[in-house]
Parts: sequence; structure tokens; C-alpha cells
Amino acid sequence: MSEQVEKTKCLIIGSGPAGYTAAIYAARADLKPMIYEGLEPGGQLTTTTEVENFPGYPDGTQGPKMMEDFKKQAARFDADIRAGIITELDLSKRPFKAKADDGKVIEAEVVILATGATAKWLGIESEARFNGFGVSACATCDGFFYKGKDVVVVGGGDTAAEEATYLAKLCNKVYLIHRRDELRASKAMQHKVFNTPNIEMVWDSIVEEVVGTEEGFNKAVTGVRVKNKNTGQEREINVDGVFIAIGHKPNSEIVKEQLETNEIGYIKTRPDSTLTSVEGVYACGDVQDHVFRQAVTAAGTGCMAAIEAERYLSSQ
Ligand code: FAD
Ligand code: NAP
Repeated sequence: MSEQVEKTKCLIIGSGPAGYTAAIYAARADLKPMIYEGLEPGGQLTTTTEVENFPGYPDGTQGPKMMEDFKKQAARFDADIRAGIITELDLSKRPFKAKADDGKVIEAEVVILATGATAKWLGIESEARFNGFGVSACATCDGFFYKGKDVVVVGGGDTAAEEATYLAKLCNKVYLIHRRDELRASKAMQHKVFNTPNIEMVWDSIVEEVVGTEEGFNKAVTGVRVKNKNTGQEREINVDGVFIAIGHKPNSEIVKEQLETNEIGYIKTRPDSTLTSVEGVYACGDVQDHVFRQAVTAAGTGCMAAIEAERYLSSQ
């Protein structure tokens, strides 16, 4: 079968807040962007319910609805939105070459990477069952819903320490469950954790089960069953929320060894820019941001990427 080759000025990979914002700006700049939605059309926010911190929605909105709005806005300016996954990318020379899972080959003058990041999960069945109903991987996003309540945070790195200290300001009590007897977090973060009176450490322990109530679609977490690794003793800790903070994985496999990344795979961009280590290739959103990881920051860098791409093409 002969290869179908399509040409575009601007290929955007990913359809979360970063990708769609890049598409809106690129389309309005007449770049006629082609955007591939990937396995999770709309991105991470389609896996949540209430979003209360995205500006412009005074009463909050639902994640999937918000991403539908992003898509409609991109479509309004004729962005070429495609279902499908980019499986291969060759950034060694321009035009850049991409291959989609339907076999199509795309030649692009610029590429905007907006492939996001994925939270790591414990992988237990009850965690998945209560995901979005008391189980979360984002304290900034969901902490507000647990104001005055008790929660657990799982993990021992800087993310867990940061999530725990953030939640301690909102919640009545935070249990920080770690599988070892010392934190991996930096000394400064450890100091914060140990000096926050409403954080209680639960050492050497693993979460065996997230416990809760279920009536059809009405689900609520009531606690976690934890096991001490040394003694084998099990106990239940009663909480309303469970925050998993064992790290994130940036979705940068596709550009591995083609672009500079940090040691855990986040794509490196120039200061105050979304430009990567390859001219004409831009990265925006969570795939290049391990610090903020918010919809509004992803959208902001999506805007930057499109503007930078447009300026680059105009300068050619
Ligand atoms: P993502 O949203 O991760 O989107 C990545 C996109 O890339 C997806 O569309 C995926 O299909 C696509 N993709 C990946 N690989 C490929 C490929 N090879 N080919 C084609 N496409 C590909 N933030 C807030 O600001 N407020 C909140 O209330 C909030 N709540 C959250 C709740 C949950 C449960 C989660 C998980 C996150 C939440 N966040 C929230 C964080 C927010 O969702 C992210 O910061 C934001 O979605 C990042 O946007 P992004 O566009 O960089 O990537
Ligand atoms: P991380 O450093 O890899 O820590 C992950 C933690 O989760 C570890 O303590 C690990 O336990 C635990 N863990 C992993 N898998 C687990 C599992 N299946 N069950 C139970 N526990 C598990 O990840 P991170 O905390 O997200 O940090 C990533 C990087 O970002 C680090 O370089 C960090 O310094 C940086 N960061 C910095 C800041 C800041 O400076 N403010 C904030 C956040 C992140 P073990 O310790 O036993 O391996």
C-alpha cells in the first residue's frame, strides 16, 4: 500500500488545554493547524468532575464540558481536528515527519507537542473504582472539596510532601502514608512536613484498599486499609479523601532521544519560551511543566507555543 502523505504548516499533538489553546491561536493566525487528539481526547480534565479554578467559569464547570468548549472554539476557527494517535515522529530534519496510527504520514513545518503527563497510581482495584469520588492525584485541583475534613496522602517524595503541606492548610488532619521509614523528599520539604502539627506520618505502610460506600453512581471514600510492612499489622484510617502523590510520568516517549529532557523525561524548553532543543519544535503544558501542572498554565503555554510557531514561520 502506498504511503498517504499530507502536508501541514503546524502539527499539534495532544488535545488537552495546551493543545486546544495552541490550536485556537494557530488557527486564528491562519496556520491551518492539524491537531491529533490522541488516546484521551480532551486530556486529563475529561477524567474529572468539577473544575472550579479555571477563570471564566464563575460557578465552576465540569471537566468534560470544559474540554468540549475548548474543542468547539478550536473548530470554530477551522482547526483540522483528528481522532488518532501520533505513533512516530522524526524531528531530525524539516519538514518534520509524523506517522499516525491509521498509517497516515504527515509532513509539518512546525510541531507543537502538547502530550501532557500521566499521574502514577498505586494500581489497586479500589483506587480506580473511587477515582474522582474521593481519590485524586491533585491537591491543588481537589483539595478544596475536603476543607475541614481528614485526608491521606500517599508517597514520600517532594510531591507528597508538598501535597500534604498544602492540604494541611485546608483540612482538619492529613495522614502521610509512606512505604519506608524515611522520606525521599528534600530536607527543606521534610522540615515543613515534620513541623506541621496536623500532619501525621504513617511509616513503613502500604495502602491495601481504599474503602468507601457505593450506591450506583453515588460513591464516597470513607477510609483506607493500610498494612505495616514490618509487623504485618493492618488498620483502617477513616478519611474522606485519598491523594496519591507517587509521581507523574510525562508523555514524552515519542520524542525520546530527539529532544532534550530532564532526568525524568520532561521536555526542556528555553527560559520564557516553549522552544525545545530543536528549532521549529515547541512543547507546552504538562509535558514540559513538572511544577504547576494546571489547566490554566497548560493553556497559557499553549498560547505561547502557537505565537512562537507563527513568528518562526513568518521569519522563514
Ligand atoms: P493533558 O490534559 O494531559 O492532555 C494531553 C493530550 O495529549 C491528550 O489529549 C492525549 O490524548 C494527547 N496525547 C498524548 N500522547 C499523544 C500522541 N502520541 N498522539 C496524539 N495525542 C497524544 N487542573 C486544573 O487547573 N484544575 C483542576 O480542577 C484540575 N483537576 C484535575 C483533575 C484530575 C483528575 C486530573 C488528572 C488533573 C486535573 N488538573 C486540573 C490538571 C490538568 O488536567 C492538567 O494540568 C492539564 O490537563 C494539562 O493539560 P495538557 O494539555 O498539558 O495535557
Ligand atoms: P519521586 O521523587 O519519584 O517520589 C515518589 C515517591 O513515591 C517516593 O517516595 C516513592 O517511594 C513513592 N512511591 C513510588 N511508587 C510507589 C508505590 N507504588 N507505592 C507507594 N509509594 C510509591 O516523585 P515526586 O515526589 O513526584 O518528585 C519527582 C521530582 O520532582 C523530584 O526530582 C522532586 O524533587 C521534584 N519535585 C520538586 C518539588 C519542589 O521542589 N517543590 C515538588 C515536587 C516535585 P520510595 O521513596 O520508597 O521510592
